[in-house]
Amino acid sequence: MTLLITNTPVEGRTYSLFAGHPTSGEYYRKIRALADDFTVRFGSAENVLSITGEFRNSGKKLWKFIRSADRENMGLIMKRLTGELSVFTVNTENYLHSLSWLDKIRDGRLSTTEDQYHRIMLEVELVNRINKTRFQRADRRIALLPHCLRDLSRECRSAKEGFDVVCKGCSGNCFIHALNDLLLKYRVEPFIWMEGSFRKLYLDMKKENQVLGIFGIACLAELKSGMEKCLKYDIPALGIPLDANRCARWMGDFYPNSVNMEEVEKLLKRMNDNF
Ligand code: SF4
Repeated sequence: MTLLITNTPVEGRTYSLFAGHPTSGEYYRKIRALADDFTVRFGSAENVLSITGEFRNSGKKLWKFIRSADRENMGLIMKRLTGELSVFTVNTENYLHSLSWLDKIRDGRLSTTEDQYHRIMLEVELVNRINKTRFQRADRRIALLPHCLRDLSRECRSAKEGFDVVCKGCSGNCFIHALNDLLLKYRVEPFIWMEGSFRKLYLDMKKENQVLGIFGIACLAELKSGMEKCLKYDIPALGIPLDANRCARWMGDFYPNSVNMEEVEKLLKRMNDNF
């Protein structure tokens, strides 16, 4: 089947990686340049992560803020991130004002602030750099794909198979189908993430002394939550954000969304460049 996926710019409830450009390529160029600059300035990707700390627990974060050097470095990083990345999060403030306290309690991801989005954008890139070798060497590598990327114009034929739900390739205009083909080319097993427990899979594999690697695609708030869980279990995770947040959690219904396929392939290639 010939794949004809269309990648037109989309607006999200709080963010969009297009920011007026025809593709989200400019976002990735910016985020790479920022990660390069901060890595040089602070010595390593790990050092930058230890300053920004969005992927760590709040207790540790509090300790960090008592140290004035970290406070200063954080101020410097945030100033730069705000200047470069605000164009991608223009809808966030209005959305936060529209939320009720009940919404905020119901789902903490909804109240992600603009500053947090900017830190998550940077940290996903840094974690990808840190994890790529371990991910490549993992005994089993799976990808968890969001069901909101399926072709919404037809009935999806995907079905449960093994760890979770698997695409059956019924549509040529479906990002999941295109991702499926691409991930298999790089020997990563693709699943539409519905109910599979990666914690259970990780624990089962650990008993056999095997390492699980996870490649995640999700909206920024969801990606942060998933990659944070992976860090907790020491699972090498790589992540790519959806171009915008447009699923029912954010918009009340599902709207067509996209992911930058070139960047997905670049990341899979970067992972292989280690060898
Ligand atoms: S191509 Fe796969 S994910 Fe897309 S609609 Fe068909 S079965 Fe579902």
